Amino acid sequence: MIRKTRLFTPGPTPLLPAAQFAMAAADIHHRTAEFRNLYRKVLADLKTFVGTRNDVLLLASSGTGAMEASVANLTSPGDRVLVLTAGKFGERWTGLAKAFGCDVEVVSVPYGQTFDLESVRKALKIETRAVLMQATESSTGVRHDVAGVARILKETGNDALLVVDGITGLGTTHLDMDGWGVDVLIGGSQKAVMIPPGLAYLAVSDRAWEAMEISLNPRYYFDLRKERKNAAKGESAYTPAVALIAALGAALDYIAGQAGGDLALGREQLVDNAETCAAMTRAAVQALGLRLFAPDAPAAALTAVLPPEGMDSGLIVKELRSRFAAIVTDGQGEMKGKLFRIAHIGLFDYMDTIAMIGALEQVASALKFPGFQFGQALTAAQKVFAAESGLQRRSSALAAHAESMTPAAASATTR
Ligand SMILES: *Cc1c(COP(=O)(O)O)cnc(C)c1O
Repeated sequence: MIRKTRLFTPGPTPLLPAAQFAMAAADIHHRTAEFRNLYRKVLADLKTFVGTRNDVLLLASSGTGAMEASVANLTSPGDRVLVLTAGKFGERWTGLAKAFGCDVEVVSVPYGQTFDLESVRKALKIETRAVLMQATESSTGVRHDVAGVARILKETGNDALLVVDGITGLGTTHLDMDGWGVDVLIGGSQKAVMIPPGLAYLAVSDRAWEAMEISLNPRYYFDLRKERKNAAKGESAYTPAVALIAALGAALDYIAGQAGGDLALGREQLVDNAETCAAMTRAAVQALGLRLFAPDAPAAALTAVLPPEGMDSGLIVKELRSRFAAIVTDGQGEMKGKLFRIAHIGLFDYMDTIAMIGALEQVASALKFPGFQFGQALTAAQKVFAAESGLQRRSSALAAHAESMTPAAASATTR
């Protein structure tokens, strides 16, 4: 059979064909009215996508660039920051804050778990300048309680800034930046917005803008104050990633188009879509006798799954890749061989999810999972899909998803 390459990875995610065409057509100079119109529209739409009244800025970098910009702009050497970590991306916050000379306090829990709010409350000090966390930890498939952490900051009257890496959280989980009081919320292009890597975006609260004025860190390329001034004129401080910005515009149009032109509703539907794909996948792998790596607070962004007892997860990853060209990821770092991860971020629909689960059954059969029978996983996933209460609302979104996958588009995503 032919093998059509499909990414099921938590970044990069499958590309939206309309965004790819927009990229290819983006032959414009960045100091022109044409670009300024595009940039203004994309920045305004990004605010709606993030769901905030705060300024949203775009940076030509991967997601980590916006994480670094947050630390560089909001802290000074010697500042106490609290990192909440439960995986590789949490550890990135620790590394970054240390690199900028912060006095780093860490609340950490074992991989696969999320921290309890009491330990966060205890670790907060009056002098804590910032709390750094993920909305979803992509290395373990766990969802963290951003609302809960924000509530603790409010309840205790703590002035610390809440900085959230929502790079896989945005578009897969409900986040109310303004309502909860998040100060910085970070996203990346290669995740829910369905375009290639290379852009980071971040929403910044008024409190965070004030904190930037007193930061003693050196800043140049990632000086957010400079970006903000230029953004107000419809430009970026340095040469922007023009093609990616055009792609982002097309992707946000697509997300709005899923909901009759209402981008905020489209974002909610994108989140619901990921939740459904994730619920189907969780039911399917459990029906195969596999265990979830993060059973207590699973993210909709991705599902992390333990292989059968005694089996290296790399075997499952390899089998899916070699037989079906389905790209899933193994565990990161010391989790390699111990789990595999299937993503639901962005452009995945019912058909993709069922196909992945069908392929997983073939792999389970070939690798002789204990007690395996064909239909186990698919039946479980079908039941979840049928039971989803928002079936009618979702089915229209899914229909539109399928429509966009024309034959030309399908081949464009095949590499
Ligand atoms: C992908 C990702 C990042 C950003 O990684 P980059 O490689 O710098 O784009 C950060 N945090 C999380 C949770 C991610 O999933």
